[in-house]
Amino acid sequence: MASNSLKRRGLMFVLSSPSGAGKTTIAHRLLEDDLEIAMSISVTTRPIRPGETDGLDYRFTDRAGFEAMIEAGEFLEWAEVFGHLYGTPKAQIRAGLKEGQDFLFDIDWQGTQQLYQRMETDVVRVFLLPPSIEALEARLRSRGTDSEEVIRDRMARSRAEISHWDGYDYVVVNDDMDACFEQVHGILRAERLRRARQTGLVDFTRDLMR
Ligand code: 5GP
Repeated sequence: MASNSLKRRGLMFVLSSPSGAGKTTIAHRLLEDDLEIAMSISVTTRPIRPGETDGLDYRFTDRAGFEAMIEAGEFLEWAEVFGHLYGTPKAQIRAGLKEGQDFLFDIDWQGTQQLYQRMETDVVRVFLLPPSIEALEARLRSRGTDSEEVIRDRMARSRAEISHWDGYDYVVVNDDMDACFEQVHGILRAERLRRARQTGLVDFTRDLMR
């Protein structure tokens, strides 16, 4: 449901966390419960995983294809993560924001920094933290899809990711999935009401004062 009837510009809602802190669950719930936000679908060179769909989870491509997109200036941001390239294509996002469409971004801190540098006023940065490092490791292991070596890499990467907590506008500790979801959704709803995003306010208030 729209928060009000005024025309507004969409926002870029960045949800980052070390992997295993519940980001994917929270992201899915947001997309299910809130009709005004859609996933920003990244392009990646990483191999497709079981259960993933091309064009839905990512657009999967090879390195040459990705590099051609960099050359053509088609990315809002891109980064290399675990030896694979990941990037946010520009065109769809720009058009959507103008129409009041919000986008959810599941990107790492490097991508978040680049997005913020380029689109500062449109970007809302939210970081999720796990309640403990043990809980994080347990969640990583419970997926059961990755080898011991990959898990070790991901734990090292998670610690590095946590060190970027101060580059975000909001930080939520995820020790209860429902509470965390409510907090994240609350941030989104409040951010939509920022004066600068409500492009319909000029006409609306002019009418009120007439
Ligand atoms: P995964 O391969 O597990 O889906 O994602 C690995 C990492 O890449 C995650 O930390 C995720 O946030 C990050 N990532 C996914 N898409 C993008 C993107 O478009 N840009 C950037 N910078 N990072 C991304």
